[in-house]
Amino acid sequence: MTALDVRAARPDQLVSGDKGQWEIIVGLEVHAQVTSQAKLFSGASAAYGGDPNAHVSLVDAAMPGMLPVINKFCVEQAVRTGLGLNAEIHRKSRFDRKNYFYPDLPQGYQISQYKEPIVGEGQIEVEPDGEEPVTIRIERLHLEQDAGKSIHDLSPSETFVDLNRAGVALMEIVSRPDMRSSKEAAAYFNKLRSIVRALGTCDGNMEEGSMRADVNVSVRRPGEEFGTRCEIKNVNSTRFMQQAIEYEARRQIEILEGGGTIDQETRLFDPDKGETRTMRSKEDAHDYRYFPDPDLLPLVLDQAWIDEIKASLPELPDAKKKRFVGEYGLTPYDAGVLSGDSDASTYFETVAKGRDGKLAANWVTQELFGALNKKGLELATSPVKAEALGALLDLMKDGTINGKIAKDVFAKMLETGDSPGAIVEREGLKQVTDTGAIEKAIDELMAANADKVADVQKNPKAFGWWVGQTMKATGGKANPAVVNEILKKKLGV
Ligand code: MN
Repeated sequence: MTALDVRAARPDQLVSGDKGQWEIIVGLEVHAQVTSQAKLFSGASAAYGGDPNAHVSLVDAAMPGMLPVINKFCVEQAVRTGLGLNAEIHRKSRFDRKNYFYPDLPQGYQISQYKEPIVGEGQIEVEPDGEEPVTIRIERLHLEQDAGKSIHDLSPSETFVDLNRAGVALMEIVSRPDMRSSKEAAAYFNKLRSIVRALGTCDGNMEEGSMRADVNVSVRRPGEEFGTRCEIKNVNSTRFMQQAIEYEARRQIEILEGGGTIDQETRLFDPDKGETRTMRSKEDAHDYRYFPDPDLLPLVLDQAWIDEIKASLPELPDAKKKRFVGEYGLTPYDAGVLSGDSDASTYFETVAKGRDGKLAANWVTQELFGALNKKGLELATSPVKAEALGALLDLMKDGTINGKIAKDVFAKMLETGDSPGAIVEREGLKQVTDTGAIEKAIDELMAANADKVADVQKNPKAFGWWVGQTMKATGGKANPAVVNEILKKKLGV
């Protein structure tokens, strides 16, 4: 494959330097921690946290003579993820030793997959906000072990090592260099995250490091071959990813326009300064002296087993989005927001079941998400559960409350966690449909505003004032349709 085989940037994605325009080329290597109770080659717990070195078997500590045993469930998770990425599953794959020295890697090598990964080429559809969808190709997915953690800040003179993470299963998902802007890279990462979360193969928890990206950035003149790339290590938020890509592309453009060359290197992003800086000159694959791990047999999968996993795949975000548009009549935008995250889609479907889907989507994406955002809460910890929001919509539908009162009730549900029925009862918010009470309020208004009565008969636009005043006089609880009807009759408009 030459660089020219891959898509060119759109004109609006080109970046201007002092001496003309440049194209940004981005590829991502995402490490996603496999959701599994045990580690990849040992029975030790893969749970996050725990006391230092509480989750370490003799295999993880690399005691002499210990042998790794593959965790079948982790293999299943990798296959499931490959299928979710529309990728080729390799029925035969192999584990290799990637040799390097780290204090937190007691084996002196990482067991990984090099020439024969478990998953080959695939592709996913990515929709950056407000842009046309783009297809991003996946090069491979391989299984490998995580390393432990060196702790430098507990003692001025010593470094401690915590091996709890050592041996935890990771999926490294490598994209082709198909992204042409920081926005596309972030959208790709988010899409990947929503797919693995829907599959249940990685929890996507970025604060706990369950998903992190190594970002490869290079620049080129439109139509030319790829330039030399730099790799920015371990980026754990899409905001940082976008900042890092933009900073790095700018840095490379300045060097190239000044007549310099780019050194292939590994860099770190410093979120405080918003810049990348050199970490080490980049190793090539041959520096790692990869060779097949003699302790592990090649991994050979049954086609029937792969088919079984395929048949059990859950509905994925793309299919769900399509269904939300078709089944509930949502806009593609709302459907995208609600299908991208499984908590959101479960919540929405609970509210929408047997009710007006569009109305349910409006309440979830606007009122609820807006309020949770303000309070800094997640959907999982929302004081308003889906069943309660559904009950609120029912109260509107059967005429117990009107839309305006519903918003007040919703605010109280957020505060107290009480059911909408209890709030309406307690605060006497039931809609007034009693025509006598409404008529009385209107009569009083008409008596006090004779000039406005004359006005509305000439000027139909003044009608809104009457509706507003009547609602106010009834504490906002009048049924707006009934108010309109009686007003029209009494005012003769
Ligand atoms: Mn890796």
